[in-house]
Amino acid sequence: MRNLLVLILLCLISSCQQSTPKQINKKATKIVVAHRGASGYLPEHTMEAKAMAYAMHPNYIEQDIVLSKDNVPIVIHDILLNEVTDVESKFPNRSRNDGKHYVIDFTFKELQTLNVTERFNRLSAKQHYPNRFPATTSSFKLHSLQQEIELIQGLNKSTGKNIGIYPEIKKPAFHLKEGEDISKIVLKVLTDYGYTSKKDNCILQCFDEKELERIRKELNSALFLVQLIQYQPQTKKLAHYATYADGIGPWYKQLLGKKEGDQFTFTSLVADAHKLNLKVHPYTFRADVLGEFSSFKEKVTTILYKANADGGFTDFPDKMLKIIKQQ
Ligand code: CA
Repeated sequence: MRNLLVLILLCLISSCQQSTPKQINKKATKIVVAHRGASGYLPEHTMEAKAMAYAMHPNYIEQDIVLSKDNVPIVIHDILLNEVTDVESKFPNRSRNDGKHYVIDFTFKELQTLNVTERFNRLSAKQHYPNRFPATTSSFKLHSLQQEIELIQGLNKSTGKNIGIYPEIKKPAFHLKEGEDISKIVLKVLTDYGYTSKKDNCILQCFDEKELERIRKELNSALFLVQLIQYQPQTKKLAHYATYADGIGPWYKQLLGKKEGDQFTFTSLVADAHKLNLKVHPYTFRADVLGEFSSFKEKVTTILYKANADGGFTDFPDKMLKIIKQQ
């Protein structure tokens, strides 16, 4: 009897050991990137949105990066401050001739005095996503890339998890015109915090093709690189991306063909990219903006499973992870 129990226990242990890697592999096949943090729930790119995203256990948390006047990499989506902060009331005389306030015209210390809010339209003053966190309430601040990496690495230590970062270099040509080499500054910070190779749980992204190619070929970065794309690339162009990038980040619509009745059809983008060994991480999965889909679940399953993308950027990491788990 006792031997039988031992045998059953041994079987259970070995079946657990066999099933664990399978489960991990299944999850690892689709990558969830917390787009600007858990931005469906808290103002984008705030530390609070990042901590909340972390607790949902996505694979990566995204950082968009723009430089301050004193060359501090700031985590913010635009080169402008007007639609996510109270800069116009705090610094009314610091706009450029176009009436707009630029991150690069303010020191890190000045930027830290601003209040960050849920995104709003500057002209109408209306909140961009009406059902999200109420604009201009509570208290949120801007922060540096270093501060955010320390939050994520600190949580990795205290929770024992290993959640990655997914930084985006914003507008390198604009920064160069302002006399700054944003890529060099960002790469230095990443190196300082131990992100140097494809094993280091960091994916670096950029829309600017020349700049991402330069990051690989001139600045000799060995990081996992993703070429973001706004328009449907020609096959030749895709092959060129594969000479320096490890993946592409297309708009999800680039994966969709014409709808036939109620059936989605797909372009050859994912298959073409996979032939070139490029991963495909489309943007953006928003539960409150469904577009051509009837539900968030339909959007996630269509893009990730029917179109076979490798993952994607979402404002709602918890909802996307739940759907992936059910597959
Ligand atoms: Ca981004």
